[in-house]
Amino acid sequence: MVVVMSPDATDEDVAHVVERVESVGGEAFVSRGVVRTIIGLVGDIDSFHDLNLRALRGVADVHRISDPYKLVSRQHHADRSTVWVGQAGRRVPIGPETFTFMAGPCAVESAEQTLEAARMAQAAGATILRGGAYKPRTSPYAFQGLGVRGLEILADVREATGMPVVTEIVDARDVDVVAEHADMLQVGTRNMANFGLLQAVGESGKPVLLKRGMTATIEEWLMAAEYIAQRGNLDVVLCERGIRTFEPATRNTLDISAVPVVQATSHLPVIIDPSHAAGRKDLVVPLSRAGIAVGADGVIVDVHPEPENALCDGPQALLGDELRDLAQAVRDLPAMVGRAGSGERTGGSR
Ligand code: PEP
Ligand code: MN
Repeated sequence: MVVVMSPDATDEDVAHVVERVESVGGEAFVSRGVVRTIIGLVGDIDSFHDLNLRALRGVADVHRISDPYKLVSRQHHADRSTVWVGQAGRRVPIGPETFTFMAGPCAVESAEQTLEAARMAQAAGATILRGGAYKPRTSPYAFQGLGVRGLEILADVREATGMPVVTEIVDARDVDVVAEHADMLQVGTRNMANFGLLQAVGESGKPVLLKRGMTATIEEWLMAAEYIAQRGNLDVVLCERGIRTFEPATRNTLDISAVPVVQATSHLPVIIDPSHAAGRKDLVVPLSRAGIAVGADGVIVDVHPEPENALCDGPQALLGDELRDLAQAVRDLPAMVGRAGSGERTGGSR
């Protein structure tokens, strides 16, 4: 932390800041410039916050140098992490070495639809199955998901296909039942700042897919990840799924720059969700290519055997040609940015 004194600060003002910092066990290094004096602080940042330094006479500004998120920051964990998803023998990595392709229906609608979507996803090269049993819909009149029945279907489809399953959780009270059926818990954009839910998934013992809040800054997103990490769970994968901007041509704007920005500041893997970003199937392949090019650690997309009859997000679900194009992109492009394609490192162990 650095304290910047105002040009008219007196020697007593500087001495008072130093005294306050030392009173909580910190060290203060004063450097006097021609116009201003700055004071560098070393010690426990939380105790410095309690000092209310900004309110002291002669203080112009206080800057934080270290990241406010500690456990997910690269400052004390330089190597980027790999998160493994699934049970022994079927673990799939998400991290810097591989590119991980995750796909499935937006919502679990029936056993047949989920199995069919999973087979399509798997045939295209996907190694993790997505599918929502609890759907956080904007309208209370829209399909809300099958709940526990949906979780059971996902668990059955995992048995049939061998694909680990990621599914959204919307209520902290459901942690046990979701963790019992799924391999990875998804916290969606609408719940990124639901701190009770973040703490609950932090205690679930399962990896977490944390989507970026649609109006969240990158720092707020990483602070949300810190809530999960603080409960002892460092198996967190971040997902950029588009943010709200003034542009109505797409449902959200995929913030492609978030991928390298987050990778530079956090050791956690970062994937993209072009389906929920665009809301349109014709943009899913180009955005996926863009994600691979900027170094995303994976992609998660919606597929559906009959998009026109989908109960949720049909317009963005892939099928046929688009799914073939996506399969080709995730197979061929990762090597161009120096990593293995989806499926080339599955089944390993920690
Ligand atoms: C989803 O993945 O099904 C979903 C609802 O995504 P988001 O939270 O990004 O809107
Ligand atoms: Mn959806």
